[in-house]
Amino acid sequence: MTRTSPHYSAAALLRAALGRGDYWRPLWGKPTLESAYDVVVVGAGGHGLATAYHLARDHGIKRIAVLEKRLVGYGNVGRNTTIVRSNYLLPENHYFYEDSLRRWETLSRDLNFNVMYSPRGVVDLATSDDDMSTLARRGNALRLAGIDAVLLDRAGLARFVPALDLNLPRRFPIVGGLLQPRGGTVRHDAVAWGYARAAAALGVHIIEDCEVTGVRTAAGVATGVETTRGYVAADRMIFAVAGHTGAIGTLLGVSLPVETHLLQAMVTEPIKPLLSTVLIYMYADTDVYICQSDRGGLVMGGTLDGFPSYTREGQWSHLEQVVQSAVALLPQIGALRMLRQWAGTNDMTMDGSPLMDRLRWDNVFLNGGWCYGGVKGIPASGAAFAKFVASGTAPDLIKAYRLSRFATGHMLDERGAGPFPARQ
Ligand SMILES: Cc1cc2nc3c(=O)[nH]c(=O)nc-3n(C[C@H](O)[C@H](O)[C@H](O)COP(=O)(O)OP(=O)(O)OC[C@H]3O[C@@H](n4cnc5c(N)ncnc54)[C@H](O)[C@@H]3O)c2cc1C
Repeated sequence: MTRTSPHYSAAALLRAALGRGDYWRPLWGKPTLESAYDVVVVGAGGHGLATAYHLARDHGIKRIAVLEKRLVGYGNVGRNTTIVRSNYLLPENHYFYEDSLRRWETLSRDLNFNVMYSPRGVVDLATSDDDMSTLARRGNALRLAGIDAVLLDRAGLARFVPALDLNLPRRFPIVGGLLQPRGGTVRHDAVAWGYARAAAALGVHIIEDCEVTGVRTAAGVATGVETTRGYVAADRMIFAVAGHTGAIGTLLGVSLPVETHLLQAMVTEPIKPLLSTVLIYMYADTDVYICQSDRGGLVMGGTLDGFPSYTREGQWSHLEQVVQSAVALLPQIGALRMLRQWAGTNDMTMDGSPLMDRLRWDNVFLNGGWCYGGVKGIPASGAAFAKFVASGTAPDLIKAYRLSRFATGHMLDERGAGPFPARQ
């Protein structure tokens, strides 16, 4: 930014607010939808935009469109609790998410857009010796893979999280935890905006308000997509529609191993700094992960609402369960007021790991099944999936995520190591 100070004056801001002057520049333009592209990406969430960006930047593909039925960032990329980490037990998962975490570390610089990566640590809490053994096993697997993991005993946990009074009587006492120091949080919608701006700067057409309603074929080959704005021909098509993955499967006549579930989150009124890390406290009867946003609100979420649904309403009973767990963890927040609650729809696979594969036709690709953990995977997914689409061969990093694993039994079952960490 090379603007001089007058542009930052109150008068300039007022002019901009009234729509005059050029203070606020759109991050991406409003190109006209063309009748044909080399690649059409369906869905302007994190995965669709990152893939489009890497296709243009790393593989020199020129004519790319991202078609979005609503707005950039309207989906789950703008609805999540922003936690990034790579502390998965299984090698296929921890190497993939570690690749992603490394990319998060430099993403603000790479995109020239502040995604607010904050390595404040992520701590899975243990409530029994059994939990500690399970976390120790996970930590050892991570360290063997060169990924940071620190097993915290009671004293270590007390030092790392002073807000947590371990002496308080709890139904599920806290005995320690597993810390990933480089885990933390990001600014979720900045990720979508950053990739959208960077992709648009490389010539990618981002077309909002354009729903894809089908794939057109000729002689058994996919030739393009039907949209609410007409037919668009494409050499290759990518579906990155997250919570709508099952619906797209139905549209394309493919039965996919996903169910759509609702996940809620909420934030309290802002308070002074209390919690400097992310705490995950999820066992049979506890159900919360919690961190403090830079604005001061305590952001929290829990497990899924428990039945397939496309609504974004959320049940009060589950919200109450999350809040009860949060207050059991940090009784000092019991009097806070809840500011907002929201929800998103997640494409849950049967093993909690994503799907990255071709979909029915050789030139149609699926990037989905991100469950409740897909934001952290965006940078790695964008780079690896673009390579897959450009070269026709899936890179080793994502090979394990092919659909055939459900037929051959090579599942990656740790349910995302999110809501059930100590059971794995
Ligand atoms: C409450 C909540 C908390 C979460 N917390 C975390 C967390 O802490 N950490 C983490 O890593 N992950 C988290 N997640 C999961 C994460 O948000 C998702 O896995 C991830 O955002 C999904 O990928 P995406 O960004 O590409 O999806 P989306 O942003 O949902 O993008 C998909 C896009 O496709 C569009 N679309 C759908 N159908 C069509 C169509 N037919 N035509 C055109 N466009 C279409 C949608 O409108 C949408 O914009 C959370 C999710 C929720 C709901």
